Amino acid sequence: MSDCLFCKIVDGTIPSSKVFEDDNVIGFKDLHPQAAIHVLFVHKKHTQDINDLSKNDPNQFVDLFNGIRLFSEKNGVDKNGFRVVTNVGKHAGQTVFHTHLHVLAGESLGHFGA
Ligand code: 5GP
Ligand code: ZN
Repeated sequence: MSDCLFCKIVDGTIPSSKVFEDDNVIGFKDLHPQAAIHVLFVHKKHTQDINDLSKNDPNQFVDLFNGIRLFSEKNGVDKNGFRVVTNVGKHAGQTVFHTHLHVLAGESLGHFGA
């Protein structure tokens, strides 16, 4: 999508600190990190959010989680663990409408959930 921020990061029009890339996926540092390691994983093909992705190109989930696994192994964060978060829509506060998975790692994140 020509007016999508993360499509522009994918095609290099907008610079980013890339920490992972393969044929399908890139991972780059979030501009406003919420943890010692905060990387956004996006598929090179545009979808709006995980519901759009699930409906129209579900194999992208495989590509994204494969990229996250490879990144976590390469950086050793698979040992101590990490968190994956994705925001969908207004109540979650999604601000960029190109599906992205936040990967938070590198420190104790506090327990999330009941
Ligand atoms: P959302 O709130 O949609 O789940 O996440 C969007 C994320 O993108 C935010 O964490 C924000 O800090 C990050 N972000 C917004 N603009 C840019 C940018 O131009 N470059 C990078 N690397 N991250 C960005
Ligand atoms: Zn896009």
